[in-house]
Amino acid sequence: MMDPLLRERHALVTGGGSGIGRAIALRFAEEGAHVFILDLNDEAARETADAVAALGRTSGWARADVSDARQVAAGVEAAEARLGGLDVLVNNAGITRDATIGKLAEADWDLVLDVHLKGTFLCTQAAAPRLRAAGRGAIVNISSISGKIGNFGQANYASAKAGIVALTKVTAREYARYGVRANAIQPGLIDTAMTRVMTPEMIAQRVKDTPLGRIGKPEDIANVALFLASDLAAFVTGTVIEVTGGRFM
Ligand code: NAD
Repeated sequence: MMDPLLRERHALVTGGGSGIGRAIALRFAEEGAHVFILDLNDEAARETADAVAALGRTSGWARADVSDARQVAAGVEAAEARLGGLDVLVNNAGITRDATIGKLAEADWDLVLDVHLKGTFLCTQAAAPRLRAAGRGAIVNISSISGKIGNFGQANYASAKAGIVALTKVTAREYARYGVRANAIQPGLIDTAMTRVMTPEMIAQRVKDTPLGRIGKPEDIANVALFLASDLAAFVTGTVIEVTGGRFM
């Protein structure tokens, strides 16, 4: 039998309380990882941590807003203390505040950039020295296909998600010498709370444009995150994997 892909690795997942982050936390735990969740939503974070524990792994959670440097520092420290090390960081926490450029409030520009782009920077800055110490670190950043194609009505979100691609490449260059890899995933349309606000007609239109003919599941992203976090991707860094069912290839 094959060894679990993340046996005795210690992973921190931001926004792990729901959707894609939750699926990543559970997939990692299935493959042997101990997992800590940082999320704004206490209830959701605790629920995911309990589900990780039910798989027989060490787990924990803390409330943190990823755009707040002090909360991030405290959260990363709590994660390392609870798990006994840190090898993997998944920057996944995210929100949307959609509006066309003419109507986009400055506050919503700032908020979305802060959560996605600054949040990814702050968590990377806080976690990277610990990943360095592990010498087998991996960072997986959740971007979006919106950052490649610039979705209508998503100036803030698409800009942040494109910025995450650049930040991923800088991270890959700066930390390669310490054995830390950094890669990004650009999901297409995935069935989570974030996209459940769309009408069935909007979903059907997008599925029609998807060669593989369905909406993505959080597990579709979790499987690719698992690959990137594991030694299977030992020679993969600074890259972006689109997980879209072929839409916008
Ligand atoms: P979701 O709303 O189900 O989960 C997002 C999680 O992030 C929630 O648990 C929320 O509490 C947490 N969160 C939000 N702001 C936070 C903050 N400031 N600090 C800490 N935690 C915070 O959404 P999802 O679809 O699972 O999204 C996860 C990631 O995937 C996001 O980065 C999103 O942009 C990206 N993504 C999603 C899709 C999609 O179609 N669902 C497509 C492309 C990219």
